[in-house]
Amino acid sequence: MVSPDRNIIIAIDGYSSCGKSTFARAIAERMNITWIDSGAMYRAVTLACMERGLIREGKLDEERIEKELKDIHISFARTGEGTLTLLNGADVEEKIRSIEVSSNVSLVSKSGPVRRKLVSLQREMAINQSVVMEGRDIGTVVFPHADIKIFMTADPEIRAGRRYRELRKKGTEVGFREVRNNLIERDRLDATRSESPLTRAPDSVVLDNSYMTPRQQLVWFEDLLSKPESLK
Ligand code: C5P
Repeated sequence: MVSPDRNIIIAIDGYSSCGKSTFARAIAERMNITWIDSGAMYRAVTLACMERGLIREGKLDEERIEKELKDIHISFARTGEGTLTLLNGADVEEKIRSIEVSSNVSLVSKSGPVRRKLVSLQREMAINQSVVMEGRDIGTVVFPHADIKIFMTADPEIRAGRRYRELRKKGTEVGFREVRNNLIERDRLDATRSESPLTRAPDSVVLDNSYMTPRQQLVWFEDLLSKPESLK
């Protein structure tokens, strides 16, 4: 059962573009705890790999990334307006959301050395504070003993539509098909990789938000909190 007297961990995993960030951020605000987007960390490492020329012809240079990881520093800056992802101190929040990074991120995130570095950083981030962390392996690998585990899913067409509108709103020139193919392919790669594949933790609660507004999802969460038997 969640107790306000100690630090708690809420793990949110699920498919691409399920609205995990919107949901996790709302929970963080509601509970006054820290929100951590682990996907942003994989995206930032991917950007670093692209900038360093470590990805060629759809392949990651595993030898070089292992050596260069010590020079790749990921952190977050909280501003009045939100959270920024920093790569070696520079704000890369916008760059890491590009379709180019989205197309390469599953390649980088299946690398063992990258995962080991980021998982250890994610655990460190939760040492002295309560967190809600979202990703693909948070409830299965990063925090198998999380207090609450939620697995999010939604209809792929609906997810693609949401992502498409979000990108277009930002002014990104992208077609619906490209967005849909990218997310379906990312889900496939994330779920079939050998290192920490995306899979539902057996002790997680499923949230299918295909036809739910952000507000309804928060009400669903409040309801979950009020049922101690569904928590650990
Ligand atoms: O959550 P988001 O879509 O930004 O994540 C981008 C990618 O980062 C995922 O498609 C996945 O390849 C990788 N990822 C991961 N493990 C996590 C979070 C993200 O492998 N915990």
